[in-house]
Amino acid sequence: MTPDVLVIGAGTAGAAAAYHCARLGLKTLCVDRRALDGAGARWVNAVPATSFDEAGLARPQGDERCAEGHAFHLVAGWGPERVTVKGHGAVETDMRLLIDRLQRLALAAGAQLQGDTRVTLGPTGAVQLDGGAQPAEHAVTGALNPRWIVDASGYSAHCANPRPPEHLCAAAQEVRDVHDWTRARGYFEGQGVAPGDTLCFTGVAGGFSIVNVRLEHDGISLLTGSIPGRGYPSGTELLARFVGEQPWIGPRRFGGARVIPLGRPASRLVHGNVLRLGDAAGQVFSAHGSGIGAGMVAARMLAEALSREAPREYAVGWQRRFGGTLAAYDAFRRFSETLQPDDLRALMRAGVVGGPTAVAGLQQVLPSLADLLPASSGALREPRLTARALRVVAKMAALAALYRAYPSEPSGLARWEAAVSRVAGVN
Ligand SMILES: Cc1cc2nc3c(=O)[nH]c(=O)nc-3n(C[C@H](O)[C@H](O)[C@H](O)COP(=O)(O)OP(=O)(O)OC[C@H]3O[C@@H](n4cnc5c(N)ncnc54)[C@H](O)[C@@H]3O)c2cc1C
Repeated sequence: MTPDVLVIGAGTAGAAAAYHCARLGLKTLCVDRRALDGAGARWVNAVPATSFDEAGLARPQGDERCAEGHAFHLVAGWGPERVTVKGHGAVETDMRLLIDRLQRLALAAGAQLQGDTRVTLGPTGAVQLDGGAQPAEHAVTGALNPRWIVDASGYSAHCANPRPPEHLCAAAQEVRDVHDWTRARGYFEGQGVAPGDTLCFTGVAGGFSIVNVRLEHDGISLLTGSIPGRGYPSGTELLARFVGEQPWIGPRRFGGARVIPLGRPASRLVHGNVLRLGDAAGQVFSAHGSGIGAGMVAARMLAEALSREAPREYAVGWQRRFGGTLAAYDAFRRFSETLQPDDLRALMRAGVVGGPTAVAGLQQVLPSLADLLPASSGALREPRLTARALRVVAKMAALAALYRAYPSEPSGLARWEAAVSRVAGVN
């Protein structure tokens, strides 16, 4: 098989790209170095419901949807100060079932999917597929010459520039049994949180970090993350610590841990016939290390551009529409890293971190001016911190404007990149 499109990686971004490419009539081969049922995220992720709409996919239903419509409590440190929001529109999604759905959609649309196959891209653009010890019958292996290559191989991407450790989030997520339901309910009641709601302790190991827990009807979901490159314990360590302190939490049912690339998205999404997608392109909402929605939406844009034989339409269209939001929130992420729990409490009191800004963050959209109004009035109460926060807001607006002017021709990229770096500062 010589495909029109070879997709490297069958996680959310790769499987969504394979589905859309095949649906649009492109001969598509999607491979993963892991078994197909081990590809991508294997845990529970929060994904904005609107991302599914934008990505041309049905919203999660049945077992795939673990929770929706629940309240989210953003707690400063270990509390008790908090901001509580409802109507944030995030769906807690069982990624194993979502990826299975995407892979089945891709197959039904005519794509060929192949697990246990590692792709190597040579420096001259040569592509080599290695099918493990016992390649399946009819498996495509050896050298290949596809028209387009989609690099959706995640953080280990072939083209991605390695990120310094201070821009890597080490996250862990597990669903566990509950040994003792009386104590479990007592713990959440003591925190003033109803079962099913998300309790998100923030800044417990550096400003960016979280320990996020939610009691489900038959177990508990735990999500942790931090930036160990700044000297903090990893998500895995934070999770183990919390479980160790709560004897009512039982053994792990499923989950996993990995790094998430933080930073601005890659400014060059197309390199010759190679297109970058998902974590491989840094299409991650850096403020909370979320890449599922962004990757699936980008997958649809990529496939539509390839079906028109116009890969640059993907690069330009995606950057102008979404790049600015991700770059802006990366500026916020770097600010959030400097905050101690007391700063967060002060920002909550001043209204800078409040219901509307928290909802915007969970929906992965820029806050509106109206959302920021409480912040300007809060300036009187917390002038120093609020002034710092408002400077970051101005930087976010400037970055969003710059990305809306992403150059249509590669010749304009170097100047544009220089302008972005000047506004954003480091990284
Ligand atoms: C614990 C944790 C919790 C998270 N929580 C959230 C959340 O709540 N919401 C959210 O939106 N995001 C969350 N994320 C981030 C999210 O999981 C990632 O952004 C997302 O999985 C990226 O998808 P992807 O398809 O780009 O890459 P991946 O999921 O990394 O998939 C890439 C695939 O490529 C394959 N591959 C790699 N190299 C090769 C090769 N050479 N040949 C063939 N195949 C290859 C890999 O095996 C893998 O299956 C979380 C991450 C972690 C670790």
